[in-house]
Amino acid sequence: MRVSVDAGSCVASGQCVLLAPGTFDQNEDDGTVVLLAEEPPAAEADAVRQAELTCPAAAIRLAGA
Ligand code: SF4
Repeated sequence: MRVSVDAGSCVASGQCVLLAPGTFDQNEDDGTVVLLAEEPPAAEADAVRQAELTCPAAAIRLAGA
C-alpha cells in the first residue's frame, strides 16, 4: 500500500491522525495533514484504509493492496 495526501484539499479535521498516528501528522501551523510514511506500517494498514474512507475532504489516496 502506498499513501498520498493532498494537503491543499485537507480541512484539518485530524481524523487521519487519530486513526493512524504512525502514518499521518498535522502541520503545527494550520493543522493540515503531513504524511509521515508513504508506505504505512503493516499494523496501521486497516486504520489507513479507514482514514481514506472517512476523510471529509477526500484528501487521502491509496494505491496498491
Ligand atoms: S482526515 Fe482528511 S481532512 Fe482531516 S486532517 Fe486528515 S487529510 Fe485532512
